[in-house]
Amino acid sequence: MAAPTPNPRTNRLGLVLADYKGGKSTLCAGCGHNAVSERIVEAMHEMGVPPERVAKFSGIGCSSKSPAYFLSRSHAFNALHGRMPSVATGALLANRTLVGLGVSGDGDTASIGIGQFVHLMRRNVPMIYVIEDNGVYGLTKGQFSATADVGSTSKSGIANELPPIDTCALAIELGATFVGRSFSGDKRQLLSMLEGAIAHHGTALLDVVSPCVTFNDHEGSTKSYAYMKDHDEPIHEISFVPAFEDIAVEYDPGATLEVTLHDGSRLLLRKLEEGYDPRDKVVAVRRLMESRARGEVLTGVLYVDTAAPSFLDALRLADCPLALLPEREVRPTRAVLDEVMAEMR
Ligand code: SF4
Repeated sequence: MAAPTPNPRTNRLGLVLADYKGGKSTLCAGCGHNAVSERIVEAMHEMGVPPERVAKFSGIGCSSKSPAYFLSRSHAFNALHGRMPSVATGALLANRTLVGLGVSGDGDTASIGIGQFVHLMRRNVPMIYVIEDNGVYGLTKGQFSATADVGSTSKSGIANELPPIDTCALAIELGATFVGRSFSGDKRQLLSMLEGAIAHHGTALLDVVSPCVTFNDHEGSTKSYAYMKDHDEPIHEISFVPAFEDIAVEYDPGATLEVTLHDGSRLLLRKLEEGYDPRDKVVAVRRLMESRARGEVLTGVLYVDTAAPSFLDALRLADCPLALLPEREVRPTRAVLDEVMAEMR
């Protein structure tokens, strides 16, 4: 007789991990964004968030496709390029009971969407904002984005000469109240940071270094994108994308770790030490700047402020979601309208 199948682990809602999954990913195998999606599924499951209470938002880019690969039972809106923050703000104002989760890329956030990003941060809109940061525009074949480091080279060997925008330092300066940086391959750290972000009431900005593997193919390979393009007569535009294994790392607080990416480039991670106090804005920005000067990527929860009012608190919104208020409460009476008109005369 076959052994009984053990019950899959349920959370406080009686839901299993599968209840938080989405469609099958169409991103490149080994893309860091897939690992981020997996951590989002785990974090939402472990925190017992009802999937139907989550609203997913994204813009345009490979990263912005990823909400299709988690939380298929949640609300979702794929906005215009760089315009996710205003859509998310509107939706969360209309229904304050939703758990907002935005997923964007470094191009979507730090270039075309930078204007929207800064206003979301300064308003402290209660939502989780994940930047899947790979320093390139993956969807349009690997141009540098505004977060690429000086000296970083493209697939064609051109070195980036422009200084990067540090989205974490910017978010801290602007007023975000939970700011952290992680690496898609650091499962444990990213999961903990996502869980902290879910529990936070205010804007939680997580910049996740998430490597793009597609632009690592080399000229000598007969299965490379360049080779296929030179030796094929395409009947329509199609790209070959090599498959790479996910990169996973584990290292201790306070330690540095050098990670070799698929193309041989190296990422020097430094995890914040135990005892680091994330409540000091000035220290957080200084640590970011010092790490950058040493060529390191500082990871961990950099800054937290639990006392600042969220955008919804500042607007003194009614407890009842605006979207659910009955018409008799939102439509001014004739007498009130007459009074307003009289004041304007
Ligand atoms: Fe990920 Fe790069 Fe492939 Fe886009 S092109 S799915 S960013 S690996």
